[in-house]
Amino acid sequence: MRRAESVRLGIIYLRLARDAFKDAGAKRTTARVRLALTSAGGALRHAELAPIREQRLEADAEVARVRAIIDGGTPRYDEMDAEIVETATCGTCGRSWNDARISELTPTPSARCPFEYAHRATA
Ligand SMILES: [Zn+2]
Repeated sequence: MRRAESVRLGIIYLRLARDAFKDAGAKRTTARVRLALTSAGGALRHAELAPIREQRLEADAEVARVRAIIDGGTPRYDEMDAEIVETATCGTCGRSWNDARISELTPTPSARCPFEYAHRATA
């Protein structure tokens, strides 16, 4: 939140500057500082969302990592040589995977999701 706090501080200074220019009767400068305040509001929203964006990027990377592990697992085949697909779906995040594939993450213990580390950021 350091970035957002810096922007908040800047907004405080801009408000002080706006009030000072207004008191001094500097109308054009007051108007310009008001524009800067509007822009700073956008910068604050952007800064406040930065940690959430970072968390989502990390979660996306984790989901991709888990997908690659499961997809790289060993498929199992039935007597007709068709791959066995036992689709499991997480009740929390809604992601599905083939639990019949043998990988370090599948088959999953019951009621567990291989994407659990990504739950907090996305669910
Ligand atoms: Zn899940």
